[in-house]
Amino acid sequence: MDTGDALRDDLTRVAAWIEGYYEHPERYRVLPDVEPGDVTAALPPDAPELGEPLERILDDFERIVVPATTHWNHPRFFAYFATSAAPAAVAAEALAAALDVKAMLWRTSPAATELEEVTMRWLRGLLGLPRDWTGVIYDTASIAGFTALAAAREALDLDIRDAGMAGRALPPLRMYVTGETHSHVEKAAIALGVGRNHVVRIPCDEAFRMRPDALAYRIEADVAAGMRPLAIVATVGTTSTTSVDPVPQIAAIARRHGVWLHVDAAYAGIAAILPELRGLLAGVEHAHSLVVNPHKWMFVPMDCSVLFLRNEAVVRRAFSIVPEFVLTTPEPDAVNYMDYGLQLGRRFRALKLWFVLRRFGAEGIRERLRSHIALAQELAQWVRDEPDWEVLAPHPLSVVCFRFAPRGSDEARLEALNAAIVQAVNATGEAFISHTKIAGRYAIRLAIGNLRTMRSDVEHAWRLLKSEARKRL
Ligand code: PLP
Repeated sequence: MDTGDALRDDLTRVAAWIEGYYEHPERYRVLPDVEPGDVTAALPPDAPELGEPLERILDDFERIVVPATTHWNHPRFFAYFATSAAPAAVAAEALAAALDVKAMLWRTSPAATELEEVTMRWLRGLLGLPRDWTGVIYDTASIAGFTALAAAREALDLDIRDAGMAGRALPPLRMYVTGETHSHVEKAAIALGVGRNHVVRIPCDEAFRMRPDALAYRIEADVAAGMRPLAIVATVGTTSTTSVDPVPQIAAIARRHGVWLHVDAAYAGIAAILPELRGLLAGVEHAHSLVVNPHKWMFVPMDCSVLFLRNEAVVRRAFSIVPEFVLTTPEPDAVNYMDYGLQLGRRFRALKLWFVLRRFGAEGIRERLRSHIALAQELAQWVRDEPDWEVLAPHPLSVVCFRFAPRGSDEARLEALNAAIVQAVNATGEAFISHTKIAGRYAIRLAIGNLRTMRSDVEHAWRLLKSEARKRL
């Protein structure tokens, strides 16, 4: 049993390691120089029969795990959506692990339950959401989105919860998305028995936003053909280009047809904490559900995704089952979070969110978001100012999509060229950049969102990209 001095020594070593790591995460390669199987080969095939001292385990952590880690905390991690963990939140995670509550019922953790309620009200206020909306924390936007869509299915009143979908005459259920919508919606359609063929991709305009006219036309045609619209998913900040679907117009169509509107603002929604970007969430007050991810752009470590609901009772109707074994003294006025999704036991995620909100304050978060957005705008200008480079999509937030496009090259050559540049930059270990396809064109995609990213880091990545491009001219 690790108690007393031994535990203190172990934790002291862990704390020292974390402190050193956060002081200089840039001393590691962003992408480790390892091949698949290297980590496995360094580890024994079977679990140890006898316990080992923590010191030896930590030695192996430093020797085997750290060098084979992709360092998301590195200031030159620019891939996907760049994220990073605030040290205060890391401390909160250690405390949450120490408490190790399973917050399924209020009774099984009054503090975890009520801290979640309070932080959800705080976040709702910061985002300017309606005061009667309820926030609930899930692990990821994928699961929060699935939960919202399960509620949308329940709201159809087709008795699917009890009778299921097979062996009876039900209309095909339809979900409306675009080609830019995140793939978790399709997974939800699989899991909810809707079927991938009923996920309808509405065309986008030239700025990669859902076209409301095409949405209205499609829904009307589907209804006329005897189908039943289940949900529209609008995205505020698409994964590829961070485009923003026109939520007010989409909401009007959803209202006209009585369709559930889910807004996926996993990355960009957090930016609505900035008064000047509050407009990003215009129209969401008419939606039924909205997802934002503090683990993406609010410096809360993975995992922490928030689902805001206009009417949380529908989620409870979709999921609430009270097994006899969890019943303790019923608390009629308390929230029991096991009623809000698939999970019974839940982690104490509100603790790290509470720590970040208090440690930075709303102004501290705003300052950091503004700095990321400003850096992205600067990068876009550098790209525009450089001959043979072009920006490929609007960049309202902290992601820029662009490419090297020397004159006279066809699309196939440009794709090969830019893919080679990205690969070469990533192979240096000095930066990690990902790519996307925009209207079929290969784009270098650079995302800024890390607490430690400075202007010099973005300059460094831009220099590497230009240097690799020059080598290939
Ligand atoms: N929605 C959008 C718009 C995203 O960009 C992402 C991930 O990048 C997700 C959902 C999925 O997020 P999570 O990893 O929390 O499931």
